[in-house]
Amino acid sequence: MKHLRYLFLICLLSSCKSDINVDLLIINGMVYDGINSEPQNIDISINNGKIIYLSNNKQSINADKIIDAEGLIVSPGFIDTHTHSDRDLNNKETSHNLPFLKQGITTVVVGNDGDSYFPISDYKSLYESQGIGTNVVMLVGHGTIRNKVLGNINKKPNLDELSEMKKLITQEMSSGAFGMSTGLFYSPGSYSNTEEIVSLAKIVSDNGGIYDTHLRDESNYNIGLISAVKETIDIGLKANIPVHISHIKCLGRYVWHQSDSIIKLIEFYRNKGLNVTANQYPYDASATSLKGAVVPRWAESGGKDSLFIRFNNKKIKTRILKETSSNIFRRGGADKLLIVNSKNSDLIGKNLLELSIEFDKPPEETVYHLIKSENVSVASFNMIEEDIINFMKQSWVFTGSDGNTGHPRKYGSFPKKYSEYVVNKKVLNLSEFIANSTSKPAEFFNVNKRGKIKEGYYADIIIFDPLYFKDKADYSNAFVYSEGLIYSIINGELIIDKNNFTGKLKGKVLKK
Ligand SMILES: [Zn+2]
Repeated sequence: MKHLRYLFLICLLSSCKSDINVDLLIINGMVYDGINSEPQNIDISINNGKIIYLSNNKQSINADKIIDAEGLIVSPGFIDTHTHSDRDLNNKETSHNLPFLKQGITTVVVGNDGDSYFPISDYKSLYESQGIGTNVVMLVGHGTIRNKVLGNINKKPNLDELSEMKKLITQEMSSGAFGMSTGLFYSPGSYSNTEEIVSLAKIVSDNGGIYDTHLRDESNYNIGLISAVKETIDIGLKANIPVHISHIKCLGRYVWHQSDSIIKLIEFYRNKGLNVTANQYPYDASATSLKGAVVPRWAESGGKDSLFIRFNNKKIKTRILKETSSNIFRRGGADKLLIVNSKNSDLIGKNLLELSIEFDKPPEETVYHLIKSENVSVASFNMIEEDIINFMKQSWVFTGSDGNTGHPRKYGSFPKKYSEYVVNKKVLNLSEFIANSTSKPAEFFNVNKRGKIKEGYYADIIIFDPLYFKDKADYSNAFVYSEGLIYSIINGELIIDKNNFTGKLKGKVLKK
């Protein structure tokens, strides 16, 4: 029904705007604007993809479509600060990004952990031509650039190589990257020293970007968790760049309870003016490849073939197995490593201890049996609730799913944080949760005119049912959509309408 007339009886004051024609009007909802703590009962007029008018004095507005949000929460669309959804966006069948959309996410950050698709300009064209379900913010991955210039090798770049890396980073920044990510725990990021990162981060800073990192150590693998946080701060200070710690956590028994010290450290530098933030997913298991979790980094220098050449050398094998065994212990033991993704479906849902019994090999040897044919993914149960809650309470810790295949966080992070930590455990109130998932990340990443419900802003808006907004994915079935999201509006278009995906791909590649 076109031009449905929505006429309010009371028209107050002379500021009353009558006869406004808009595409979409949202009425009767409890509106959280992303900043203020108190929700307002205001009507939102959307036209040409933008929020053009917020009104609380009921007046007459003509709208093509009206959404009655009585009893529902209206919020800016969530911004997921850490995902691996570029893998999905690249593919026509999955570019709808539904696992994220169904959580209320309207913008995803991609290119995290040092790993981005190259060159950004090609992927930008691909997304624009095939269509994507959510907006996307792209980062350039340091590891990707390093691999291009040096290969996956444990060495320092010489001056020529460093300047080639700078050139490629500049190119990616001008193609639209919002910043640079690193994965200093993984190869090849782990082969770079702080100095290398500082010199590259300076280029990013000159181009108005941010620095996002998977820390060199989230546990006590090499320099230790606290030193890894210090390294990030050091990079921020020396390169004069805002820094963001991805999926902040205390990984493994040796670093449990360190959240207090880390928070104090970060607060100290924030008070001195350094823009340090972080993101977090609300689960006690991390997810990674089995290789990333337990294989010593030095052993895989040169790639998989080199790893198995070393492994087949009797003397080196003993050392590799010993270190692998202690990495398994650090993560809580073989029973705390659950296979969540593999080409061999028989492996999924079994932990490393069960598989080691099945294969009649010690757990550390079973690892190499498994990774020989493929890079299996694991959920690694290595965090405690005390640290999770401590981090979550901080105003500078945003929500980030780190969504990748096999871990329920890809399908459930935002609704889980809402239902478990806002509603049940009351760690955060609703407006804090919304701000940490919308306006704050938008501000940090320099996402222009999104993350708030404000006149002149792009209309990325979600409407969910406060009683039913909930995650449904778990470790036994990680691929279940969340429930309770009634509407999602992206760039003014209705993408989820009464719980159903409309099939529209209206996400945009965002510009700084
Ligand atoms: Zn990561």
